Amino acid sequence: PQPMSGTREEWLEKDRKYVWHHISPHNDHPMIAVSGEGSWITDQEGTRYLDAMSGLWCVNVGHGREEIAKSAYKQMKTLAYIPMTQSHEPAILLAEKLNEWLEGPYRIFFSNSGSDANEVAFKIARQFHHQNGEPTRHKFISRHRAYHGNSMGALGATGQAARKIKYEPLGVGFSHVPPPYCYRCPFGKSKDSCGLECAAIYEEVIRWEGPETVAAVIMEPVITGGGMIVPPPDYMRTVQDICQRYGVLLIVDEVICGFGRSGQKFGHQNYGVQPDIVTMAKGMTSAYAPLSATAVRSDLYDSFREPGDDSHFRHVNTFGGNPVSCRVALANLEILEREQLVSRAAALGSMLGEKLAPLLQLPPVGDIRLFGFACGIELIEPDGSPAKAENVMKVLAHCKQDGILIGKNGDTVPGFANILTLSPPFVTTEEELDLIAASLFNALGSLHDYQN
Ligand code: PMP
Repeated sequence: PQPMSGTREEWLEKDRKYVWHHISPHNDHPMIAVSGEGSWITDQEGTRYLDAMSGLWCVNVGHGREEIAKSAYKQMKTLAYIPMTQSHEPAILLAEKLNEWLEGPYRIFFSNSGSDANEVAFKIARQFHHQNGEPTRHKFISRHRAYHGNSMGALGATGQAARKIKYEPLGVGFSHVPPPYCYRCPFGKSKDSCGLECAAIYEEVIRWEGPETVAAVIMEPVITGGGMIVPPPDYMRTVQDICQRYGVLLIVDEVICGFGRSGQKFGHQNYGVQPDIVTMAKGMTSAYAPLSATAVRSDLYDSFREPGDDSHFRHVNTFGGNPVSCRVALANLEILEREQLVSRAAALGSMLGEKLAPLLQLPPVGDIRLFGFACGIELIEPDGSPAKAENVMKVLAHCKQDGILIGKNGDTVPGFANILTLSPPFVTTEEELDLIAASLFNALGSLHDYQN
């Protein structure tokens, strides 16, 4: 790749003047990335970093995939755009392929982002009930600590106070239940006394709200962005049973868990549930192009086919499902299949678990939670309470110094800015996992608060 001309300081000066960064708007020292290859990113000064977060949990097939770039180029020259009021070959082929991956049949509505896909899911759920003679079913139930996107409805579903305060009122009709957070069970239970209270609470809440007012439950298979919270094995199945008993739809947000991150094609397949609606984004194109989708069980879709204006789904998205993004998604899925990267992700996840297990001996490490090839490390203070955010930042800085980009989350959940996260590309090698584990070991071992 061509190096950027000019010094880092010159570029930073312009960046500080013109760019509004995401998450940390006042990031005065951002990396200025230039190129990527496999699991590695190179910055403007030629320093290489191991991208142990795949960007924001998305570059699953790794950086620098020439065949994806070629597929985009070819499609742009052939047909760059036609709105999805019409159709085109890449959209049809992709909808067919998604059905294979989802073990359908599902109808696929394309949009641009995970937030978009969830908004579509909410609107479809409400309209579905409307058309089936239950217009009072408008409410949604989600979980505290969950993140479902940045738009008003998706933020309404989000259960993280710090993302919501200042922007309220958000989409209305959302209530939250406690997360299945076994490490500090909100119901005061332990592994031995657990009666899946975190799943049973859905029934209570549906009854308190009035079942005739509840449209859907939305959940990720595991809460990724709000602390890597992995539920007990029977949790999701139990929630689905409750939903079915009360005519409540189950929307599964696979924006992060989908496309192999969980070690299966989709996260919910680990738990034997068949969602009514599935939303997906990031891993669908491995972030090579913006694209998301809302997959709706075909028999639910049928009620949108009734003759007459009333069954129209009033939602259009200009860029959603554009031919280039769909072609990129097809190329990405082809790579995942040909290189068997989903089973590789599962194997890498187990390997990562083994390599990280010794970290549990270190005083700052309270819990290590794995789901497929994604990991959350919960840090604690010497008294067992959640670690201070500054300790998490120290670990991040230490790892960056070692050339390894890891993630953090929980800082939008009051009191829980204590989670380190890992979600490397599926092409990561064992040697690269060793680098990650060694860097974490050193970083966590050198936190001075814990030393005598
Ligand atoms: N759902 C989940 C579970 C997510 O993690 C995210 C983004 N991190 C979204 C939805 C929103 O996706 P986007 O940023 O593409 O709008």
